[in-house]
Amino acid sequence: MIENTQEANPVTSLEIHAGERKSAHARLARELFVKCKQCRTLLYIRELEKNLKVCAACGYHFRLSARERVATLLDPASFHEADTEMKSCDPLSFIGLDRPYREKLQEEQKRTGLHEAVIIGTGSIGGHALALAVMDFHFIGGSMGSVVGEKITRAVELACRKRLPLLIISASGGARMQEGIFSLLQRKIWPKWWQQAWPKKSLRRKG
Ligand SMILES: [Zn+2]
Repeated sequence: MIENTQEANPVTSLEIHAGERKSAHARLARELFVKCKQCRTLLYIRELEKNLKVCAACGYHFRLSARERVATLLDPASFHEADTEMKSCDPLSFIGLDRPYREKLQEEQKRTGLHEAVIIGTGSIGGHALALAVMDFHFIGGSMGSVVGEKITRAVELACRKRLPLLIISASGGARMQEGIFSLLQRKIWPKWWQQAWPKKSLRRKG
């Protein structure tokens, strides 16, 4: 048997530099360009943002975060966020398939820069004041946990208190199963809304 004493495929420093250059170019391309999910056209990210995240080639709508939605919709610097510090806790000490819910919440908060799947507040569109609640699908699929329900309820109350129209941008995958019954209880929003919008007095029969 003959042994092959020669080194197999020795990597030269020239090849290492070429590899580094290639990965740097790939990283730069990822930062500057994105491929349309529908027509596969390569789009310059700045141009895409100018076009409100709609593909210029085919009209595909990219997903917007809650903050992007606020920035594209409201008059500049008019948004005043309310209840910014509200965060979900872990009422059931739920352990998911891959990790505890508490850890998942922390990761999502870090990744999205949000405390929860909805932001609420007041702002203006074309000089007309309004209250709004904007959901964000990036945060656990925009699912409705106890804090999401509470914040939307507070947005309704805020609109009623300040006599403002209310705009809700819904982007939700449904109930947040990690919070079980506490998530399902968020249907409290609707009675609250109904009660605020059509108080009993106005429903009474006249005469
Ligand atoms: Zn496209």
